[in-house]
Amino acid sequence: AAAARADGVWKVYGTGEAQVVALREVSVELQRGRFTAIMGPSGSGKSTLMHCLAGLDSVTRGQVYVGDTQLTGLNDAGLTKLRREKVGFIFQQFNLLPTLTAEENILLPLAIAGRKPDRAWFQTVIDTVGLGDRLSHRPSQLSGGQQQRVACARALVSRPEVIFADEPTGNLDSRSGGEVLNFLRQSVIDHGQTIVMVTHDATAASFADRVIFLADGSVVDSLDDPTAERVL
Ligand code: ADP
Ligand code: ADP
Repeated sequence: AAAARADGVWKVYGTGEAQVVALREVSVELQRGRFTAIMGPSGSGKSTLMHCLAGLDSVTRGQVYVGDTQLTGLNDAGLTKLRREKVGFIFQQFNLLPTLTAEENILLPLAIAGRKPDRAWFQTVIDTVGLGDRLSHRPSQLSGGQQQRVACARALVSRPEVIFADEPTGNLDSRSGGEVLNFLRQSVIDHGQTIVMVTHDATAASFADRVIFLADGSVVDSLDDPTAERVL
């Protein structure tokens, strides 16, 4: 089965004159263990699609699945549980808690879910993220690239069904951005993690193994094994 799937999804905001159709009949399948980028112009529906797939926003019509779970059948409590147990998030602004160390930030989703960290897996994630002794530092003592790698480790440590990354390199220079993208790609190659990334950056998209293009709320194209030249 797919890690996540949208099936004939429509999303309409507002009513009457103020109505905005953000998604029109969108169907996408996110294969397990793949790194998918969603691209498209501003306002094309990228964030809306990600939010609907992640259970952060409801759909107007159609179906969304994460693993075997049909999201349209869930109430708010069910959606919160799904996000905590099956989904990881990476944001443009890192969203680390400033009073916690890097290590405490990474372990936070497990703590909230009342789960014990698998020590061997935690060590693997820590080794991959390459922070060394900076694990005991707070976010303000880390560079942007290091903070985003902490956020990546936090998303990965609970082994979610899908990680959703919303413009993860939007606040980084190209070198730090490359490190973050390499970490994401490596977690797909080495650990079979499924990742969906929204980006408007062709270089970032070229780290994915599939790109889906949105325009005006519809999927207009898709590309396997993209290179930056082919995405542009
Ligand atoms: P993108 O992420 O590609 O920039 P969005 O998904 O943010 O696009 O937006 C798609 C369309 O839906 C846009 O026309 C946007 O203005 C509209 N939209 C997004 N969120 C809301 C909202 N909460 N209320 C009303 N309209 C919205
Ligand atoms: P909590 O009570 O733990 O804050 P939430 O339902 O607010 O529960 O959040 C559950 C998960 O969804 C968290 O991992 C959080 O990071 C993510 N999340 C919540 N709101 C948003 C949002 N607007 N955009 C992206 N992710 C969000």
